[in-house]
Amino acid sequence: MTHLILNPDSTDRIELQKFLEARGVQTYTFSCPGRDTIAAINVDAAELHTRLFPGENYRLVQIETSYILASRKMQPESTVITTRFNKTIGGKDLAVIAGPCSIESESQILTAATVVKETGASCLRGGAYKPRSSPYAFQGTGEKGLRMLKEAGDKVQLPVVTELLDADDLPLLREYCDIIQIGARNCQNFALLKKVGKIKQPVLLKRGLSTTIEELLLAAEYILSGGNMQVILCERGIRTFEHETRNTLDISAIPLLKQKTHLPVIADPSHAAGNWRLIEPLSLAAVAAGADGIMIEMHPTPKTALCDGKQSLNPEKFRHVMENIRNLSKYCRGRK
Ligand code: PEP
Ligand code: MN
Repeated sequence: MTHLILNPDSTDRIELQKFLEARGVQTYTFSCPGRDTIAAINVDAAELHTRLFPGENYRLVQIETSYILASRKMQPESTVITTRFNKTIGGKDLAVIAGPCSIESESQILTAATVVKETGASCLRGGAYKPRSSPYAFQGTGEKGLRMLKEAGDKVQLPVVTELLDADDLPLLREYCDIIQIGARNCQNFALLKKVGKIKQPVLLKRGLSTTIEELLLAAEYILSGGNMQVILCERGIRTFEHETRNTLDISAIPLLKQKTHLPVIADPSHAAGNWRLIEPLSLAAVAAGADGIMIEMHPTPKTALCDGKQSLNPEKFRHVMENIRNLSKYCRGRK
């Protein structure tokens, strides 16, 4: 299929967009920082050429994949997402997102935030609404937790990320957090994806437990086609026959995604492994495979954690892992 991408500085932008829309062609505006352009899906190239639009105003691309806006053919340069306190994901520095599985108390999240900040990580994580397998398990601290997360992030000057479980909570999350996480279980909740496609905040989209790479990219496409181009993909392990680990970290997904899409790709070894002892080797493997970042669960006292204590590093171990990740990252690609 042929798609058209307008050059950002095209003088005929509005006219060309009107021309396409009059012919029933769907157009999408890319508005990444530093660029603003329009993509038109499935155009009739022959008809376009008969019009008097100078060629340099647009380029035509052939994309055979089911996902279009997420494709690197549509946008060859990697997307860099800049969040609060000037932290970037997808840029030259490795982005580390760390913190507890769940926000439990003010002191717990503040202690975690202080450690995350000291190590030079870029973002604080913490769940307030938890997607638990059992309805009897701890479900999260809700709005109180969101407030504690934001206060801790503000105090140490780090952006915060938390999971959106229910579309009704979107206004609250927009108020309290910088990056909205769509968890593995909601990776293909298309109604929820459409909702976060309409907002301006970055979305961290986790791969579903049985989602193929193409399905993950199509899930991202739901958000992109809504107008939100700030999507971060996260490989967090998939379900396989193997039971020694909670899930199986699909390392090949990282370089494959980096080749197929311009979106930043991070890895979450905590939910992949379910075991803190595997966090360091899997993090190093993900960095070596080209990940733009890592998401790690760290708890001030993992033994007392209300959720995912077994896969959480304590502050001392986290500092050690961070040092090794940084060293490898510098070695691999000369970035922090
Ligand atoms: C989480 O990050 O807290 C989480 C629940 O992860 P996932 O959706 O990958 O299971
Ligand atoms: Mn967790």
